[in-house]
Amino acid sequence: LQKQVQQAQKMESLGLLVSGLAHDFNNLLAGMMGYAQQGMKHASDQPELADSFRHIFTRAEQGARMTRQLLTFARGSRLEPIRIQLNDLIAQTLGFLSTLLGPTIKIEFVPDPDIADVYADPTQLEQMLMNLCINARDAMPHGGTLMIQTHSFQLQQGKQDARFTTQPGPYVQITITDTGEGMSPETLSRLFEPFFTTKGVGQGTGLGLAVVYGIIQQHHGFIEVTSQPGEGTCFALCLPVAEQIAREDMMLGEIEVPEKA
Ligand code: ADP
Repeated sequence: LQKQVQQAQKMESLGLLVSGLAHDFNNLLAGMMGYAQQGMKHASDQPELADSFRHIFTRAEQGARMTRQLLTFARGSRLEPIRIQLNDLIAQTLGFLSTLLGPTIKIEFVPDPDIADVYADPTQLEQMLMNLCINARDAMPHGGTLMIQTHSFQLQQGKQDARFTTQPGPYVQITITDTGEGMSPETLSRLFEPFFTTKGVGQGTGLGLAVVYGIIQQHHGFIEVTSQPGEGTCFALCLPVAEQIAREDMMLGEIEVPEKA
């Protein structure tokens, strides 16, 4: 227990440090983006210069995205759960996700029309899908297929492992399967660790999956990952159905679950 408390204190001071830094960086980057945009405007008759400004803008934007992830992670942001039909939420983000994946990756969505609603924070679910799709994209540098499916299932027995404590009951599952390079067993065992990344310097923060883990935990769900090196990876995100949450009067994160609709 003492070790756990020490670990929690360490994480708390790390969180404070990180969110302070991330906040300052965000301001710096926002300033850079503004100046780069002005530069682009003034250099409209000098294509090379305009191009350099555009590069500055996109790099700063990339940095801002990373610091946003850091902030979400460090703050453990608060949930605003509402009743959600996951098929609709996914369908609404498909356009954005396919832009993110680029033209060489085919995206397939196979919804199960009978899935129940869940209580969830839509912004956080979108962030989660985005993080998983960015990883899938990075694992498929030569293109491939990303398959998103939904299912219902009944978890017969709750379980507790190092990562998740789960209650038995009805769940909805989103699986995200890529045909990418897969992971080694070592990566598979460490992938939710904050700051764990196999990507090069400036490429990965190692926070994408730590954020996904935090989001799923706050929603009382769990994640199962399977991966075959050279063949691909499947993330199964499981969330308890809304009825289940309401019946057991569960709390989502810090915020009370709204009354059943
Ligand atoms: P980052 O993407 O910044 O490296 P993440 O926490 O999102 O951080 O991922 C941690 C590591 O997990 C990645 O560096 C990568 O090695 C591995 N990983 C995550 N998703 C996949 C995937 N779909 N296929 C292969 N490896 C993956």
